[in-house]
Amino acid sequence: MRFAPSPTGFLHIGGLRTALYNYLFAKSHTGGKFILRIEDTDQSRYVEGAEQDIIDSLEWCGMEIDEGPNEGGDVGPYRQSERQDLYHKYAKQLIDEGKAYYAFDTTDEIDQMRERLKKSGNPSPKYDAVTRQSMINSLTLPQDEVEKRLKNGDEYVIRLKVPRRETIRFEDLIRGHVSFESKGLDDQVLLKSDGMPTYHLANVVDDHLMNISHVIRGEEWLSSTPKHILLYQAFGWEAPKMAHLPLIMSPSGGKLSKRKAEEEGIPVNTKEYIKQHYEPEALVNFLAYLGWSPGDDSEIHSLNELCHLFSLDRVSKGGAVFNHKKLLWYNEHYLREETDKAIAERLQPIAKEKGIELPEEEFLIQAIALLKDRVSKVDELLDMGRFFFDDPDEYDEKALKKWKDDSADLVTQYRENISRLPDNEFEAATLKSHLEDVINANNVGFGKLMMPLRIAVTGQGFGPDLFASMELLGKETVLKRIDTALDKLD
Ligand code: GLU
Repeated sequence: MRFAPSPTGFLHIGGLRTALYNYLFAKSHTGGKFILRIEDTDQSRYVEGAEQDIIDSLEWCGMEIDEGPNEGGDVGPYRQSERQDLYHKYAKQLIDEGKAYYAFDTTDEIDQMRERLKKSGNPSPKYDAVTRQSMINSLTLPQDEVEKRLKNGDEYVIRLKVPRRETIRFEDLIRGHVSFESKGLDDQVLLKSDGMPTYHLANVVDDHLMNISHVIRGEEWLSSTPKHILLYQAFGWEAPKMAHLPLIMSPSGGKLSKRKAEEEGIPVNTKEYIKQHYEPEALVNFLAYLGWSPGDDSEIHSLNELCHLFSLDRVSKGGAVFNHKKLLWYNEHYLREETDKAIAERLQPIAKEKGIELPEEEFLIQAIALLKDRVSKVDELLDMGRFFFDDPDEYDEKALKKWKDDSADLVTQYRENISRLPDNEFEAATLKSHLEDVINANNVGFGKLMMPLRIAVTGQGFGPDLFASMELLGKETVLKRIDTALDKLD
């Protein structure tokens, strides 16, 4: 199997899913290999750093590359820009066998041909089996003229002789039987005038030479497949088996384009998921289910388990909707599986980045235990748990609406009660029973005191168990915060 991205930008989630399915399929077969091939023949679209971003993204997800630019292997090099000789050799072979030809036409000449044909009623004129006969190429020019031009260094492209009328058929492992008519195809350019191969030539030559057995790629490449099949036929090579993955759809309908994703707050590039502190296991699990399922109602699987479960016949044909809530659900699951101690370690660099000074480890671990079930992502622990690390310096505005006329009085009574507790009895259960005493004595509902107390201690209207939080904060801190709140809010 190969993952064959073009380094024209950072790896987006669609690309990452393609990589994942290739990886899972390779690993679901004994001896299967996962190859990374960098398709960098389009120099004008090359983006500095993109290759490294692809490699980093795969590594972050735990997909180990068996062969690639850095790993090496028997069928390298693994960057197409380093395989130029091969493409020239195979293009030349097709010319020698009469299956391809040199075309010397300038862009202007081709445009003129198209204009002429459009005027005579052909809406989409092609450089094809019919029109090639009146163009400037090695099929129409005398042999010595062709040689003269080549010697001269005249610009040319190499084109494939696409048959005039042929139905090209293949079995797609996801879509089933697919057929295309060759009539709608141009004589494909194989080698461009700058000497670079086109995607089609390089892709076919490499898949063959790299012994790729199955090509799994996005649906957008389906229309390239007939061109590839023709090339395999021309070379007399057996084509790999093909599988085209369903599109990733936006929750609001239509393809999940970059713009749509941004509108819906869905990160597009893998890099953003890394930066936003998603759990890699969650993204992997989620992406695996974006177009595939194991056929039972199980949902949680590690990368390793997915390798055993994956099969192409359970990939759906229809578009797969990107449900961000589901991703967060996965994220919560994997976050909760981590130990509090491990999370505490992970929080260090994130806190540093946010300029938050964390308390000592023992305290932090206990705070994490209280907070963990209430957040979706690890970095949210710092926002929700802010009050564990700092006294609140302001009070949440929405929560303040719950600070009523009688709040100060109730909070004061409660403060009186708990201030008498010895330090070692400043415990969640006791703190709770004191709250019950106060509300009973005043004949008011639970929330009448609970809410103002939460605001005073945490500055927020929601958060982890208040009494357990107060126990962890300790008597001195809690009383101090209550006093500050009474002072500021009354
Ligand atoms: N280089 C193509 C891409 O960027 C590869 C398509 C294929 O897998 O054949 O997706």
